[in-house]
Amino acid sequence: MKSCGLYIHIPFCRSKCIYCDFFSGGASAADWDLLVDALLNELEERKHELKDLPDTLYIGGGTPSLIQVDAFRRLIDGIYDKIGGRKQWNEFTIEVNPDDVTEEKCALWLEAGVNRVSMGVQSFVDSELNAIRRRHNADCAEKSLHVLKKHFHNISIDLMFGLPGQTADSWYESVGKAIEINPEHISAYSLMFEDGTPISVMKNLGRLFFPSDDECVEMWKSLSRRLKMSGYSQYEISNYSKPGYESVHNSRYWLGFPYLGIGPSAHSYDGGGVRRANPSDLKGYLRRFSSNNVECSPFYIEETLETEELIEEMLLTRMRMRSGVSLSEFEMRFGIKEKERLLGNAREYIRNDMVAIDNGRLRLTDDGIMIADEIILGLTM
Ligand code: SF4
Repeated sequence: MKSCGLYIHIPFCRSKCIYCDFFSGGASAADWDLLVDALLNELEERKHELKDLPDTLYIGGGTPSLIQVDAFRRLIDGIYDKIGGRKQWNEFTIEVNPDDVTEEKCALWLEAGVNRVSMGVQSFVDSELNAIRRRHNADCAEKSLHVLKKHFHNISIDLMFGLPGQTADSWYESVGKAIEINPEHISAYSLMFEDGTPISVMKNLGRLFFPSDDECVEMWKSLSRRLKMSGYSQYEISNYSKPGYESVHNSRYWLGFPYLGIGPSAHSYDGGGVRRANPSDLKGYLRRFSSNNVECSPFYIEETLETEELIEEMLLTRMRMRSGVSLSEFEMRFGIKEKERLLGNAREYIRNDMVAIDNGRLRLTDDGIMIADEIILGLTM
């Protein structure tokens, strides 16, 4: 039996960062009690989908650190109640924003069983944080991380490169500050221009200055170099950790393990080819779940993946990990013909040192990682 995970989506933020396309609305109008009722009712209705007791819990969003104390306690007690009592999680992560971190909140999270905190820092340069409308400044992020470090031994921070006004020097400063603070885990993402986000509109209007693609590649290379020199290993394209601090919950997404996602816009996977996605519709979600009517049809939209899609998904997720794809597992799932097709597609990349086979695993090399998307597309042809 594969271990499984539980994800809870909190769909509120204090204000919207201009690059963000995650599903979240304004917290000023949030009815926390109604939301907690709905989340717990959905969990009650769908807990049979969990193939085993979950051993990872991830509360993401949105901004879970915004939840009011009483509502948070009720949510956590309700989760324990529905999955059969309080337990020690292999990993229990909560996403937090720097401006929400206080000693009191840390005590609340610890009491709930949280053992990993993930903070959206993005940059340690105030002008960059301002440009993307983050609510915190660099000083707030640094102070909050020091508060967290007193209580938690597994802290992750997010950084972003490609931000408006960012330069090689300012990126060097942000990465240097992150290394100095020394969290156990660092995720680093390139700024994406998602359709309809204010930052995409501003870019199209030429209102903001962004680093070029070449400069972004250099930022990424310098990040990888410096983090490796500081004891982090890159276990996934965008994720670096100290030994033993790879994210268990997120790794399972990439490894195709089952997980149940609760909340508006949350996704679930049964580990065998069936995906379920809750619509990004808060009103509909609250209407459907705030009173417990288990007779209703499912809120989620279900999709069963065909073999081609399963192959694509496996390559898309596993090739992003440094451990790559096990060729024997690939053959066991999809047959020898598909394995031969994969190896045929990989031949040119292997010849050019972009892809390697080590211990029966197909994986990207350091050079290959730089053009990962192109290679993964080539492998799935
Ligand atoms: S705090 Fe996070 S989820 Fe909320 S708008 Fe900003 S990036 Fe999006």
